[in-house]
Amino acid sequence: MIVMRKGVTEDQINAVVKKLKGIGVTPHISVGKYKTVIGAIGDIETIANVAWETYSGVEAVVPILKPYKLVSLDFKDEPTVISVSEFMLGPSCFGIIAGPCSVESEDQIKKTAASIKKSGAKAIRGGAFKPRTSPYAFQGLGEEGLKMLKEAGESEGLPVVTEILDIRDIELVAQYADILQIGARNMQNYFLLSELGRQKKPVLLKRGFSATVEEFLMAAEYILKEGNRNVILCERGIRTFENSTRNTLDISSIPVIKKLSHLPIIVDPSHASGRRDLVLPLARAAVAAGADGVMVEVHPNPQEAFSDGQQSIDLQEFDGLVSELKVIAGMLGREI
Ligand code: PEP
Ligand code: MN
Repeated sequence: MIVMRKGVTEDQINAVVKKLKGIGVTPHISVGKYKTVIGAIGDIETIANVAWETYSGVEAVVPILKPYKLVSLDFKDEPTVISVSEFMLGPSCFGIIAGPCSVESEDQIKKTAASIKKSGAKAIRGGAFKPRTSPYAFQGLGEEGLKMLKEAGESEGLPVVTEILDIRDIELVAQYADILQIGARNMQNYFLLSELGRQKKPVLLKRGFSATVEEFLMAAEYILKEGNRNVILCERGIRTFENSTRNTLDISSIPVIKKLSHLPIIVDPSHASGRRDLVLPLARAAVAAGADGVMVEVHPNPQEAFSDGQQSIDLQEFDGLVSELKVIAGMLGREI
């Protein structure tokens, strides 16, 4: 990491960037309020061999010892805020994303969109390509589902979040989605991560159910390394010996990640618990622990849902959830 002096000029930055490129190293510039740093990702020996102190504007060269670099607070010490038109997500703008596990019909998704918007959701989710544990379970409506989701989102002014399973679908899904989700099962699909790093839409990256926090951050690093800095991390529960819930929400990962990374982190209480009666308490905990948002599965009629009905709350319950989160956020001096 090359730390530039306060008041550094563009020419001075360009000179460093040019040198880095010349020695085959990819520069990543981060302009902060107080300092500009240039992340130099490449062979450490090659970088260390340059007399950086002779370049004007360079204050120091500091190695980042952590295995992840660009996602770390060492590289960028101001929180990253994700914004898609009016949707903002970060420490001062708690983001509520809601919607069904799967897009099932026009009626279902429209009804959901209208209701969650009224309740205070800021974005709508819904799967059209579903990564199901069983190959015989409902796999999603594909492009038809994407169209329905986009239409419903547009009619309510809600940006759309949907999962992408395969690099072959990027172009198609990106046509309809505002934020591309990488599911828990694909967190270590490094080709997919890198490809999504090469396109511009924000990525919502879910934690793999057997991934440590460090592995989670390394997965995010794959995306940032390719140039896309707009990543939302999502804690969705991990697999433990406990079987009273579908997964175990690792609530401590929220403050842990806040100490390590500038990326926003949200909580998915639905997949974490697998039980609709636990969605509200876990969502409350997420706000209290300092998460930047939640993503909740909501269905107009959970009993009839094609997937994850047992963990989906209905429209009225969602309305209550938002009201409660507002109170908790208010007590902590945050606004929803
Ligand atoms: C989802 O959000 O629809 C989903 C499949 O979640 P996860 O990848 O966390 O299991
Ligand atoms: Mn689901």
